[in-house]
Amino acid sequence: MEKGKRAAGIGRRQFLKVGMVGTASAMLGGSALADAAVHYAQSAPFAFPQPVYRTLGRTGLKISVVSFGAMLTPEPEVLKIAFDNGVNYVDTARKYMDGRNEEIVARALKGRRDNVYVATKTLPGSRSKDDIIRDVETSLRTLETDHVDIIQLHNLTDKDRIFVPETREALARLKKDGKVRFCGATTHKNQPEVLNALVDDKDRFFDTCLVGYNFESPKEVGEAINRAAGAGVGIIAMKTQAGGYKTGALGKISPHQAALKWALQNPNVTMAIPGMKDLAQLQEDIAVMGMPFQYADERILRRYHAAVAGFYCDLCGTCEGTCPQGVEISTVNRSLMYAEGYRDRGLALSTYRELPVTASADACLDCPVCTAQCAKGLNIASKMARARAVLA
Ligand code: SF4
Ligand code: SF4
Repeated sequence: MEKGKRAAGIGRRQFLKVGMVGTASAMLGGSALADAAVHYAQSAPFAFPQPVYRTLGRTGLKISVVSFGAMLTPEPEVLKIAFDNGVNYVDTARKYMDGRNEEIVARALKGRRDNVYVATKTLPGSRSKDDIIRDVETSLRTLETDHVDIIQLHNLTDKDRIFVPETREALARLKKDGKVRFCGATTHKNQPEVLNALVDDKDRFFDTCLVGYNFESPKEVGEAINRAAGAGVGIIAMKTQAGGYKTGALGKISPHQAALKWALQNPNVTMAIPGMKDLAQLQEDIAVMGMPFQYADERILRRYHAAVAGFYCDLCGTCEGTCPQGVEISTVNRSLMYAEGYRDRGLALSTYRELPVTASADACLDCPVCTAQCAKGLNIASKMARARAVLA
């Protein structure tokens, strides 16, 4: 039976119940759920939309087109509500919240595991067979499950890791032991190279790719997505909000729905996994299922683009060959985006601290003149200085 079920909707009482949990969380850990509870107590009951499902490439899994990126979610109740209303896929990683994110997902999955596909990731630095197997076994214990549906190699920046025999041996062993069902990759940088390698791999070892894709993406990313989907690779879109920066230029208009609709209008994208911190964000994102991308959305995205054009980095990585010091400019910028767009300082710092100092923005301190060239014309020296100030 296909995973995911449709509930009749969610009423004020359920939101209030969640809100009370959220209030406790707010006192304990600063959750925004208390605000969400007040919001829903004062507003009309919210009915979840009829969920829409697409097939995830050759895995054959039918997945809700808006699925759950759990990386920012402090509260299992938000996940539970999503799962009880047709969202049937959750993406997590041990890296997120120093392991706590998988614990939060585990709490939400209790009694629901059979209804939800679970995807997690190896640690970015894991390379050996033992490391990869240990990563997955640790995730299984934390998630309190005997298998994950998709294990993803985290943060591939080129095609090389796709073909490492030791990596494949580890993943094949995990599949044989029933601990994982499918293998995938995630990528933020050199995305076309990674996607094309998945297609060109004669063994078709990896079945899915989690890829940054939004209305700011270079056309090469869209083309590579279409090619990969055509070859049966299941495409999962992340970073659909282009940083999710709050901008006064849009007034009270949120660009989130328009951005999600933009990504989902590509039929080669199976689903998006927006990070949803609280009930308000869940309601906003989930409502998009089944909505067409319209002219009004295009106008909103044009305004958002104009507001962020001076600083938004699409993480293409093409500038890095022009920096003589080897600074990983796109990773520095991604960390900055986590801090200033997502407003998740923990994720920003953990991402930034994975860089060696010699590849961080600190390396710029010894550089007399910035010669790095951005394909979009961003002032890279200024971005690096900003990163040093924000991520110190
Ligand atoms: S200032 Fe520019 S060229 Fe110099 S190390 Fe930093 S990014 Fe590279
Ligand atoms: S700074 Fe410019 S060239 Fe470098 S990754 Fe960002 S958008 Fe691409």
